[in-house]
Amino acid sequence: MLYFASSNEHKRDEMKSILGLKELRMPKDDGIDFDPVEDGSTFLENSLIKARDLYEKVKAPVISDDSGLVVDYLGGAPGIHTARYGEENGKKLNSREKYMLLLENMKGAEDRSARFVCAITLMLTPDRIYLIQETSEGSIALSPSGHEGFGYDPIFISSEGGKCFAEMESEEKNSLSHRAKAANRVKVLLKELGLDG
Ligand code: IMP
Repeated sequence: MLYFASSNEHKRDEMKSILGLKELRMPKDDGIDFDPVEDGSTFLENSLIKARDLYEKVKAPVISDDSGLVVDYLGGAPGIHTARYGEENGKKLNSREKYMLLLENMKGAEDRSARFVCAITLMLTPDRIYLIQETSEGSIALSPSGHEGFGYDPIFISSEGGKCFAEMESEEKNSLSHRAKAANRVKVLLKELGLDG
């Protein structure tokens, strides 16, 4: 039994499909409260924090991911703070409000280069850990397009796909996204370890 240390259904669906798994359990499937303090300073540290936290609760192999958008013009922001962008003062923003704020902060920017980053931890036991980090290169659009996906997909133009993530069917996004690239490495490991059922 493999657990996914997240409460994001979209990410679970993507991960499950990329890994070709029949089942990938989330903490909430078992009624487990899962809200670790992500106080690491890198994507890798935060993915390790999530994996450790859930492993302690389920005592079974865990996969976790930590991801975000790194925008060169913004000095690498929102980076590890992507999920909470614009919420610094206790304000709550929905996905659209977050990406519209990012577009506002990019107004007039010529350098629109950006990348999605995805760090994945596969924790088999607290002493057997695999860490992987991958990227998907692209740029920030001038305005949103597309309705697929989640989060910042409507404003991220993938260099490989030549269009926004939100304009791609899930199969296409899952062939070139940051999460797909990292998860494909995990897939090989799971096969070797006999955890790919
Ligand atoms: P995490 O759940 O702490 O890893 O937060 C990552 C945040 O980055 C998510 O809440 C999304 O807003 C954003 N993000 C990560 N991956 C993607 C993606 O594939 N598309 C759009 N947004 C993403």
